[in-house]
Amino acid sequence: MKEKVIAVIGRPNVGKSTLVNRIAGKRLSIVDDMPNITRDRIYVEANWQDKNFVLIDTGGIVEGNEDEFVKNINAQVDIAIDESDLILFIVDAKTGLNPYDYDIANKLRQVEKKVLLVVNKVDSKAQVDLANEFWALGFENMHLLSALHGDGGVGDLLDIITEDIQAQEQIEQEENDGVIKIAIVGKPNAGKSSILNNLLKKQRAIVSNVSGTTRDTIDEEVIYEDKVFRLIDTAGIRKKSKVDYGVEMFAVDRAIKAIRNCDVALLVVDSQEGLSDQDKKIASICEEAGCGLILAFNKWDLIKNVQTHKFEQEIEKEAPFLNYAQKIYISAKTGQRLNNIFEVAQMVQMEREKRISTGLLNKVINEAYNLNPPSSIKVKTLRVYYSTQAKNNPPTFVIFINNKDLIQDHYKRYLSKKLRENFGFKGTPIVVSYRQKGDK
Ligand code: GDP
Ligand code: GDP
Repeated sequence: MKEKVIAVIGRPNVGKSTLVNRIAGKRLSIVDDMPNITRDRIYVEANWQDKNFVLIDTGGIVEGNEDEFVKNINAQVDIAIDESDLILFIVDAKTGLNPYDYDIANKLRQVEKKVLLVVNKVDSKAQVDLANEFWALGFENMHLLSALHGDGGVGDLLDIITEDIQAQEQIEQEENDGVIKIAIVGKPNAGKSSILNNLLKKQRAIVSNVSGTTRDTIDEEVIYEDKVFRLIDTAGIRKKSKVDYGVEMFAVDRAIKAIRNCDVALLVVDSQEGLSDQDKKIASICEEAGCGLILAFNKWDLIKNVQTHKFEQEIEKEAPFLNYAQKIYISAKTGQRLNNIFEVAQMVQMEREKRISTGLLNKVINEAYNLNPPSSIKVKTLRVYYSTQAKNNPPTFVIFINNKDLIQDHYKRYLSKKLRENFGFKGTPIVVSYRQKGDK
């Protein structure tokens, strides 16, 4: 299950970034690496009571003249609506209620997402009364805290957040049982819409217009051989959006969101152009998100006299990190091999769900170790004690070793390769983490 996303919004200087930093752990790099995305928000990973979630820090949105200001607030609310599962609306007890707070509150009232009103900068018990005027915003509850001091209020808020996440996850689990979610992503004109339209024509669409994961995506559910597939379309986005902060960036953002929400990404590549740098970038986002990956070489009808294996060899040379991805060769125009999408997605999903018993896993890792023992570093030798599969979807392993300084990248790659050789994991990334005694 994908981590829930929490948007932190509010006027400049109310303490959004301070709160995010207080709660946060590691900052995600996804956004920084992407072209066309300005740093007007940052995704931050956080964890509380064993629940992981992602915070969107919109704190970086700059203050300007009145026009800019209103635009910025609108942009923040848009981000919150599109990308988050829960919204924290921060106000400032020190400066008190502000007309812009009313504006934000009014906008949020139209949003069908849970909003928690957080009154920040209540630095001491003596200041609790400062919060009273915020009842005027019309929320049923408010949460008083001091982000700067990280008092008990922050912990209480986190408890409420994690409870809410848990409730949302339970509902989703019931809805998603057995459904395979496929995000159709790729460059403009690769043929995403054509594929979707063709699939919807051919298969029985059981529900049309399932509310999308974002305001601008439409999810469609179809049945193929008794199995339900939810297709998350990102193609319509570019055509529909009129957002002023960069149409292309908007599309990229939605694609990321779709990838985060899917089981398997169908990366549509224009066969005539081959795998582009942008395709590789999208593929690495998929890897980071942990979803399955199918490279769909579309417009195959236009390719004459090329054997697929030659094509594959070329890709393997150009992008060896994509070896695990499954490749299919299709034509949205003629309908050639489109069923492969469902068949391969189902296979990849099974690979993602695989569970390897601890006994077998340790046997494989020990054999790999004995076959090719690591060389010593400064007379110290890496020892592998014990391995276990911590999760599936994607397969995630923890290997306990004597000292993390002793494991080199090439050896990590070697062990990962052995896991794939033995267990397959076709089409899915795998995650292997190393721990030594004393690690959490
Ligand atoms: P943002 O623009 O909403 O992200 O606000 P920042 O997090 O940058 O905070 C703006 C200012 O408010 C900074 O000087 C913070 O140190 C201060 N601040 C944030 N939280 C608190 C708090 O709980 N109490 C007090 N007294 N100051 C705070
Ligand atoms: P999107 O931007 O990724 O949604 O791409 P579209 O589905 O809008 O397709 C872009 C163009 O490629 C359109 O002119 C399509 O007719 C064409 N196209 C899509 N798939 C195929 C295909 O399999 N073969 C051929 N020959 N053309 C295709």
